[in-house]
Amino acid sequence: MAAEKIHCLYCNSLNELSHKHCDHCGMAMPKSHPHSAAYRQKRFKWAVVAIAIFCVFMMLYLPR
Ligand SMILES: [Zn+2]
Repeated sequence: MAAEKIHCLYCNSLNELSHKHCDHCGMAMPKSHPHSAAYRQKRFKWAVVAIAIFCVFMMLYLPR
């Protein structure tokens, strides 16, 4: 897997995800950045689970 890059929240320069501090301004990098793919995938997975539960509930609840 290629190293993921994220933008610094303070100066918006690109940094390696593994870096703890920004190369440009030295501020601490966030662990879970909204721009990171991992965060988006996690959100997407939970949205799918919520929709699936909702569909099953409606199938059982609504009269046919
Ligand atoms: Zn920075």
